[in-house]
Amino acid sequence: MMAFTKKCFLVLIIGLSLILACKQTEEPVGKDTRLKVMATIFPLYDFARHVGGDKVTVTMLLPPATDAHHFELKPNDIVRVSKTDIFLFTSFEMEQWAYKIINAAAEKTNMLAVEAGQGASLLPLSALHQHDAEDQPARQENDMEHAAKFDPHTWLDFANAQKMIDNITTAFINKDPKNSETYKKNAQSYKLKLLELDQKYRDQLQNCKTRTILHAGHWAFAYLAYRYNLKYVAAYNMSAEAEPSPQQILMLIEQVKEQKLQYIYYEDLVAPRLAQTIAGESGAGLLKLNNGHDISKKDIQSGESFISLMERNLANLKKGLQCP
Ligand SMILES: [Zn+2]
Repeated sequence: MMAFTKKCFLVLIIGLSLILACKQTEEPVGKDTRLKVMATIFPLYDFARHVGGDKVTVTMLLPPATDAHHFELKPNDIVRVSKTDIFLFTSFEMEQWAYKIINAAAEKTNMLAVEAGQGASLLPLSALHQHDAEDQPARQENDMEHAAKFDPHTWLDFANAQKMIDNITTAFINKDPKNSETYKKNAQSYKLKLLELDQKYRDQLQNCKTRTILHAGHWAFAYLAYRYNLKYVAAYNMSAEAEPSPQQILMLIEQVKEQKLQYIYYEDLVAPRLAQTIAGESGAGLLKLNNGHDISKKDIQSGESFISLMERNLANLKKGLQCP
């Protein structure tokens, strides 16, 4: 009995001295030197994680399952962002409140605000509700004066996503030049993955029986439709504020029947009731599409990435549009 007690005591002392020794060697290195990055929405958060690797810590400003188009910035959010090194937002079309953070931080901190979507190809919102592959609106360069006139879901054009990677990389190098080679290398390999994804979409959506995405959600997939020559019809406008009228719903049901669409699409954050009604009345099935900014807690917990979400979308598009 005595011997047992002594042994335990010895182990405990050894354990304690080990902890002390660790602390002594680690303390001079000091605090976490990784770049602190705050990204507004999931695509940027995931892009930043890939470019930054183990040299950065990335936080997402909008909690999962938040409607990005109706997000209201709280004073505490501004405080949280201003404690970071880099603040990533998509554009003034997407995060119209971003200027509040930029103004607040400009006076006090060295935080770098980065419009990740700068230089992206933009689609005007005038195309809303009837986005037809044969009748494409002219694309225009990014222009601040046109804020809110453009569709903000720019990341769903994977060439724009690559542009975002470039902008994020430039910002990381600017703030942390000693790790520039790592950022460049990470960015290059991630852009390659985006290129492969783009090619997969192009190949697999080439010969589909139907080319109409009928979406019982908000106007989010015009960039994707444009890029792969698909027709896009959405039940709600960009921010899903107004419910479609009974007449509009009847027209959507008619469209499904006329075009013999086997599936229609729905999304997480817009109530599935409308999708269920259209599907029920027309006999079509339901498939989900993820727009990237509506990320669920479950998807975050299960480690989904932007690319895995887009792969899931591709599988559902192939099924719904009946592609070989
Ligand atoms: Zn949206």
